[in-house]
Amino acid sequence: MSIAQNKIKTLEDGDCNENKVFYQAMEEVICSIAPLLESDDKYKKYSILERLVVPDRIVKFKVTWMDDQQNIKVNTGYRVQFNNALGPYKGGLRFHPTVNEGILKFLGFEQILKNALTGLPIGGGKGGSDFNPKGKSDFEVMKFCSAFMTELHKYIGPRIDVPAGDIGVGGREIGYLFGEYKKITSSFEGVLTGKPYFFGGSLMRPEATGYGAVYFTESMLEMEGKNSLNGKICAVSGAGNVALHAIEKLLQLGAIPVTSTDSQGTIYDKRGIDIELLKVLKLEERTSLDKYLLIHPEAKYIPVEEYQEGCHAVWDIPCYAAFPCATQNELTENDARNLVTNGCVSVTEGANMPSTPEAITIIQSHGLCFGPAKAANAGGVAVSEFEMAQNASMSKWSFEKVDEKLKLTMQEICKRVALTAKDYGVEGNYVDGANIAGFKKVADAMIAEGI
Ligand code: NDP
Repeated sequence: MSIAQNKIKTLEDGDCNENKVFYQAMEEVICSIAPLLESDDKYKKYSILERLVVPDRIVKFKVTWMDDQQNIKVNTGYRVQFNNALGPYKGGLRFHPTVNEGILKFLGFEQILKNALTGLPIGGGKGGSDFNPKGKSDFEVMKFCSAFMTELHKYIGPRIDVPAGDIGVGGREIGYLFGEYKKITSSFEGVLTGKPYFFGGSLMRPEATGYGAVYFTESMLEMEGKNSLNGKICAVSGAGNVALHAIEKLLQLGAIPVTSTDSQGTIYDKRGIDIELLKVLKLEERTSLDKYLLIHPEAKYIPVEEYQEGCHAVWDIPCYAAFPCATQNELTENDARNLVTNGCVSVTEGANMPSTPEAITIIQSHGLCFGPAKAANAGGVAVSEFEMAQNASMSKWSFEKVDEKLKLTMQEICKRVALTAKDYGVEGNYVDGANIAGFKKVADAMIAEGI
């Protein structure tokens, strides 16, 4: 039994619950890559799997800061530097009360293969804190970010580790983090991506993950001989960076996204979501989705308390294509059954691992197209790498150039995943295709670099 399988076994025997999502991510990869491991024994000879599932290092630190009432607060900060075989560690920072080492290991592990799939020179990492930016003033967020960077700056650098945003970390937080890094090091360098445009950010970085997921879906539907999204009803979960921009791109392509969700409930607007209003509510006012009804009383709001047991209201709304874009394990077995019953044709993961393994089995066994996160949401990290390239050459690319490169990258990822699946006898299985293609790229680099 391999180390990875042993670890999964330990979990079943009552290992810390914190690691559950990490083992879930690992188990999926281990199952997918079986045909690759059988086809070439070099991966076993060099113990690649055993080496890949252990992060290079995990940095854990105390973050002490002061709130607006002069109370001293303490949070925990982390950076998981997972694998740098292909380039500097790269992956977002998440600020959310649920953050712990297990969640960051799951996200970091996924990030290694995702980054490999982009074909760009970036390794995998992830970080964050259990700090909750919700309800905090700008000054409190600034003070927390400064305290977080006081520790983090020791471990990052443009050629070492380049963090970006994730849940709870957008342009505001990246700006504060960058400002503190600059102050401590006296160096203006591309150490973070997702920066506001006017001091080193790339055009289209905020849009990239959501837009990329839609570009990926268009490619996948075409490759699988299905109708495009034009004129089709789509269901999107989330109301953050990824969801907002997925909705925006769907509208631009003539699709009709009818939903958005946050942690409190679901909005269903059958005429199509009013994206400008949604942006005001979520990006400017940072308020909850029920306020959507103040402007559009004919829309429907379903609070979390009214969801059916074991289901999310958003996946019970008939749609052609579904885009889970909020958080991990938000689309369950029951939700998958609802999507199938309602005639859904395609599911694309905008969030990281939003579908449970049971949901994926149902989706795939009923012949729906399924775009896994590793491939479908790689647009964000791809444009982050474009930001690194612009910072390194002190240049600025136009919106059109970034958009064109993003679209091409997503099409190439889709093709690579589909062809890999075909080569390894699992045609149409984009989960296996993505895992095999990503793993192979990292594994071959690890072998070439020695132990
Ligand atoms: P945001 O913080 O911008 O938005 C997250 C959204 O999901 C919010 O609407 C939030 O609701 C909702 N949400 C978060 N946690 C929960 C929960 N436990 N239950 C229900 N709803 C929840 O994050 P992003 O849009 O950046 O990230 C969303 C997903 O996409 C994550 O899985 C992230 O890892 C992944 N991702 C993000 C990338 C990026 O570029 N930002 C890149 C690749 C992947 P509320 O508004 O109430 O807080």
